[in-house]
Amino acid sequence: MYKVIIKEILDQGQLNQNYIVQGWVRNKRVSKSISFITITDGTCFRELQVVINNSSDFDSILKDLNTGASVSVHGRLVQSEGSGQKVELEAQQVDLICQSHPDEYPIQPKKHNLEFLRKNAHLRMKTRTFGSVFRIRHGLSFAIHQFFNNKNFFYINTPIITSSDAEGAGEMFKVSNFDFKSIPLDDSGNVDYTKDFFSKESNLTVSGQLEAELAAMGLSRVYTFGPTFRAENSNTSRHLSEFWMVEPEVAFNKLADNVELAKDLLKFSCNYIYNNFHEDLEFLSQRKHNEEKNLKKELRSNTTLINSIENIINNDFVNIKYNDAFNILKNSKKNKKKKFQFLISDWGADLQSEHEKYLVEKEFKSPVIITDYPKKIKAFYMKLNDDNKTVAAMDVLFPGIGEIIGGSQREERLDVLRSRMLDLSISEKELWWYLDTRKFGSVPHSGFGLGFERLVQFVTGMTNIRDVIPFPRYPNHLEF
Ligand code: ATP
Ligand code: MN
Repeated sequence: MYKVIIKEILDQGQLNQNYIVQGWVRNKRVSKSISFITITDGTCFRELQVVINNSSDFDSILKDLNTGASVSVHGRLVQSEGSGQKVELEAQQVDLICQSHPDEYPIQPKKHNLEFLRKNAHLRMKTRTFGSVFRIRHGLSFAIHQFFNNKNFFYINTPIITSSDAEGAGEMFKVSNFDFKSIPLDDSGNVDYTKDFFSKESNLTVSGQLEAELAAMGLSRVYTFGPTFRAENSNTSRHLSEFWMVEPEVAFNKLADNVELAKDLLKFSCNYIYNNFHEDLEFLSQRKHNEEKNLKKELRSNTTLINSIENIINNDFVNIKYNDAFNILKNSKKNKKKKFQFLISDWGADLQSEHEKYLVEKEFKSPVIITDYPKKIKAFYMKLNDDNKTVAAMDVLFPGIGEIIGGSQREERLDVLRSRMLDLSISEKELWWYLDTRKFGSVPHSGFGLGFERLVQFVTGMTNIRDVIPFPRYPNHLEF
C-alpha cells in the first residue's frame, strides 16, 4: 500500500491494488446506499472519483466532506462503472484532514468570474481554470530551459538590483534603505545617494540584457530567465509591474539568426505544451470558446485556442520590414477613414498596439515579425543599418497579444555606439563596462526579450495578464 498523487494513480495505477490518495473534495453525491466524492490534488486536470459503498458507515464523515475539504482516502483501484472515468477508488477508509467551512468558502462548484478570483488569488489555484493555467506556465518554463539546453546555451542570472537606467526600457522602481522620514540631501537640496546603501542611486532591473551581452562575450550562447520590474502606470491587460523575461544573447549571431532563434523558441514551447498538456489545453480552449459566446462578433477570435497553437507550430511567420508595415498601415482603409486612434502619416511613427493588432489580425492573419525600425524609436544599443536611418531591430507580434518579443542585433562598433550614446545623452562613464566589450574582441551579436507572461497568455488563451502569474503586481495592487 502506498501513497500516490492523482496523476500517478490515473496514469499508472494497477487495478485491484490498494492506494492512499490525498486531495481536496470537489463534489460529493450522497445517497443511503452508495456515495461518490470527486477529489483533486492539482497534479493533473483529471479528478479521481471515490466510491463509498455502504455510505451509512461513513455518515459522520460524509457530512463534513464539503467542497474544498481536505481528505485522505485509503482504497482499492477498480474499473469504473460510471461513464466519466475509466477507474475509481473504492474507499475502505476515509479520513477528513480539515474541513472547509461551507458558509465561508468562496470557491463553490459554480462558475466564478475572473475578477472575483483575482481578489481571491490565495484560493484561485484550487479552481480548474487556474490549475490548468499554472500547470501550463510550469510546462512553458520547463520547455524554454530545455530548448536552450539542447542548443548549448548557458543559463545566466543577471542582477535584480542595478544602478543603470541606461537601457531606457521603462521607468524604474527605486531601491534604498534610507529612512524615508529623513532622506539626506546634498548642498543643492538633491537626494544625496552617496549616503544610501550602495552609495549610488539603485533600482530594480527592467532587463538583464546589458549584462547578458557581457556573458555572451565569454560564453557565446547565454540566456536569462528572471524577474523584471517596470514602474509605468500602464493599467492594461498586457502589462504587469513585476514580470518574467527570457533574454537570450548570442555571440556571432546577426539579425536573421536572431529571427530564426525567436521563431524556433516559440514553436518549440508551443509544441511542448501541445504534446504534454493536451487535457489542460482542451479545457482552456473550450473555456475560451464559452467566454467568447457572450462577446460581440467582432471581438471573438476567428480560431479556437487549440487551432491558434497549431498555427504557430505548423506555419511560418510573416517577416516584413518597418517600411512595409508603415506603407500597409498608411494606405489601409482604416487609416484613411481615420479609424486608428493614432493615425499613421509620417515615416518614423512608432507602431501602437492598434497597429500591431491590425497587421496580425486583419492584414496577415498570422504572427508577424517586423525588422529594421527607424533608429529614433529604438534603443541606443541596436545596430545602425547602412542607411543610417534604421536599426537592426526586430519585434515579434502575436495574435491576441501584440508584441511578445522585442530584440535586435547589437551595435558592436565602438565608434558608432559612442556616437549614438552621445546623441542620446547616455553617460559613457556609467556604462564603461559595456563599452569595454566593444574594445576587447568585439563581435557581431544579437538577442531578444520574450515576455514570459505574454507567452503564457497566448498559450492559455487568458485575456488578462493578471491571470497568468500567481500573484500579480500592478498599480495599486500589492495583495498577497
Ligand atoms: P510594450 O510596448 O508592450 O509596453 P516594450 O516594448 O516596452 O513592451 P520591451 O522593453 O521590448 O517591452 O520588453 C521585451 C518584452 O517584455 C516585450 O516584448 C513584452 O513581451 C514583455 N513586456 C514588456 N513590458 C511588460 C510588462 N510591463 N508586463 C509584462 N510583459 C512585458
Ligand atoms: Mn519592445
